[in-house]
Amino acid sequence: MAYDNNNIFAKILRGEAPSFKVYEDDKTYAFMDVMPQADGHVLVIPKFPAEDLFDLDPEYAAAVALTVQKLAPAVKRAFKAPGIMIAQLNGAEAGQTVFHLHSHIIPRFSGLEMKLHARQLADFEMLKKHAAAIIAEIK
Ligand code: AMP
Repeated sequence: MAYDNNNIFAKILRGEAPSFKVYEDDKTYAFMDVMPQADGHVLVIPKFPAEDLFDLDPEYAAAVALTVQKLAPAVKRAFKAPGIMIAQLNGAEAGQTVFHLHSHIIPRFSGLEMKLHARQLADFEMLKKHAAAIIAEIK
């Protein structure tokens, strides 16, 4: 399958679709997942047209990993989460639904199940507050 320039994350990167931005540098962009599996669910994407890990330029793969490493502790602090899950799905069979590579950062708590994947749209005011709480914890 060829990379589709009109996928929703490509539109977000071009500023053609809205997002609740958390962080940006020259190679990556991070924003709140609008159908979060837990409060504080963040997505990190490369500024590179790759469907999955296998067609991502290694420099951008490294940049995504570095941004995840920078943001996951901020998410952990902001949500007082004892655990953080990092997930990255490759291919529809693995559950990937948006075909621009992304890493999920998801706070985890013992005894609290994650919500279903990509199902329920969150309240936008709440997402705005969550983004601000994470931004305040980025070091
Ligand atoms: P995946 O299934 O790994 O491809 O994950 C795609 C993720 O993108 C899901 O968790 C969705 O909730 C999320 N998502 C879909 N559209 C948007 C959007 N416009 N803004 C933010 N997150 C989105």
